[in-house]
Amino acid sequence: MDEAYDVGLGNIDFVLRKKADSDFVSFWDDEAKNLSWFSYWEKTLDWQPPFAKWFVGGTINASFNALDVHQKTKSSKPAILWEGENGESRIITYGEMFLQVKKFSNVLKSLGVKKGDRVTIYLPMVPELPIAMLACARIGAIHAVIFSGFSAASIKDRISDSHSKVVVTANGGYRRGKIVKLKEVIDEAIKDVDFVEHVVVLKRTENEISTSSKDRLWDDLMNNVPDSCDAEKLDSTHPLYILYTSGTTGKPKGVLHGTGGYLTHLYSTFKWAFDIKDSDVFFCTADIGWVTGHSYVVYAPLLHGATQVMYEGAPDFPDASRIWEILQKYHVTIFYTTPTALRMFMKFGNNIPNSFDLSSLRLLGTVGEPINPEVWKWYFKTIGNEKCPIIDTWWQTETGGMLISPLPGLETMPLKPGSGTLPIPGVRISVVDENGDEVPPNTKGYLVIKNPWPGMLLTLWGDDEKYKTVYWSKYKNCYYPGDYALKDDDGYLWLLGRADDVLKVAGHRIGTAELESCIVSHSDVAESAVCGITDEIKGEVIIAFVVLKEGISDTEILKKEIFDKIRNDIGAIATPKQIYFVSKLPKTRSGKIMRRLLKRIANNEKIGDVSTLEDGTAVTEIQNAFDDIQKSIKRNSC
Ligand code: ATP
Ligand code: MG
Repeated sequence: MDEAYDVGLGNIDFVLRKKADSDFVSFWDDEAKNLSWFSYWEKTLDWQPPFAKWFVGGTINASFNALDVHQKTKSSKPAILWEGENGESRIITYGEMFLQVKKFSNVLKSLGVKKGDRVTIYLPMVPELPIAMLACARIGAIHAVIFSGFSAASIKDRISDSHSKVVVTANGGYRRGKIVKLKEVIDEAIKDVDFVEHVVVLKRTENEISTSSKDRLWDDLMNNVPDSCDAEKLDSTHPLYILYTSGTTGKPKGVLHGTGGYLTHLYSTFKWAFDIKDSDVFFCTADIGWVTGHSYVVYAPLLHGATQVMYEGAPDFPDASRIWEILQKYHVTIFYTTPTALRMFMKFGNNIPNSFDLSSLRLLGTVGEPINPEVWKWYFKTIGNEKCPIIDTWWQTETGGMLISPLPGLETMPLKPGSGTLPIPGVRISVVDENGDEVPPNTKGYLVIKNPWPGMLLTLWGDDEKYKTVYWSKYKNCYYPGDYALKDDDGYLWLLGRADDVLKVAGHRIGTAELESCIVSHSDVAESAVCGITDEIKGEVIIAFVVLKEGISDTEILKKEIFDKIRNDIGAIATPKQIYFVSKLPKTRSGKIMRRLLKRIANNEKIGDVSTLEDGTAVTEIQNAFDDIQKSIKRNSC
């Protein structure tokens, strides 16, 4: 394994961990008391595998915990420092946010929205997006946010699945300097859907919209409602939202989250992982359309009364300095982003970040994919100036919040580039083989979670059976996340990629993350994706796709260097049959590499659900590369 990075950190909190391990239920019971409840629960956990109910009998409200509780002390504190892509900016205080949320709650009520009804929200990254979400939460409606990059067909699927009677959208949003006409997309999506009764339209851009009898303007509605609205006293298990997964491994799943357990999980993990203080300025680059945005842009920072930056546009628009400019302008102290974004920033070289004052930073986070050790080191050195711990957080839409992460707000420990370190307290995680038996240290296997946790999904929306099959059927009473991992001698966890993507070459199992990280550690390489294609003799042979850094040419010498690097660092067994240089990789709209697509194309299979694919031209390029591979295989066999 890689060297340990000691950034002045001390010891693991064994006392707290022991307490959490010996009785995770009473541990979470204590944590839940950090929130404001209308009434306490009778039972901390009702566990009828695989369904968990947390804080049963307790009543709570997410919007109340995000806003009402701060009004006495923080009403003039900025909740959101908003930066528009076109250079506009706005400051929304806790007081202002409170007022807007109460008013929009009354708007929803005036449109007939009741407790338990679903409301679809398709908005750009503007403050009205969290305002609309919190208004739903305030009256007990279930929000179903759809990332504003999705097409009409994808929206139609999701609206039909959730049966929303109200849709909240905008006339447009800015993306890479262009106006995306969101209302037009919604019109197309709902043209044959009869159960949508109202479409609320926020005016964000200058473009005109055509209106129908269903359409109502946000501003008109807001001008005609009272500004007081008490938060509903909701059961702890009341559904807060439906959110569809990224679709990296297949058709997106409609994850349903509850209230009391979910909020407890977020409150505690935000405090532990990001050590949040009143003076901090937090900045998470995730779009609210994904779970990271729900949990760690909307709910967790607001529960803590924190100040955060919210940015509307693409991280590299109008140029590659945009994000660093924002960090400098707002004196950001905690920055949370993805390996994909970091690999992109790295591709543009060090001069850009080096020309900004990033000295306000004290913690750096990452989420979404395994972070290649090379990328981790770059983040640590170039962005954090070797002073900021890297908080590599592993979790999923389904887990609601972080489950594996360094926790500098709780305890301190040396970090290892590429490892998320330990599970959070109160969560038992193992690495097991096909039979469910724990594998010895340093052996690859499947990650499993052995007890329920408060942020755990309630179920998949309208599909308990699928919920049982996808997560709970591989191992008895253990949650199966579908990821491949390894535990080292210190008990640190290393995520090695999706279990479905594991390469099986001549009986050896190789994680995609290991091999890709090795390729990315070549100084000329920006990104890589590997996949296996069926081979009669070896079972599978490996094909590697490589994107080079800006200004690097794809030569045979470079290809040989990469081959040699793999042989040296991992071994001959992991040597790809072919290395292909491409200009981009197929990714989900949340920025993750879609290896299942590569694999399907490689094996001449149908490519399946691609509703979350970001850019179709990446697929064409890969398809052409595979045509070449097929031809060369045929040539070799002649
Ligand atoms: P789908 O479930 O539809 O295929 P998805 O799994 O990409 O999509 P998310 O819930 O957004 O949807 O992503 C969770 C997954 O992201 C995890 O299962 C894991 O594979 C990966 N992941 C997240 N954080 C990390 C991390 N820090 N290190 C390694 N992998 C991570
Ligand atoms: Mg998943």
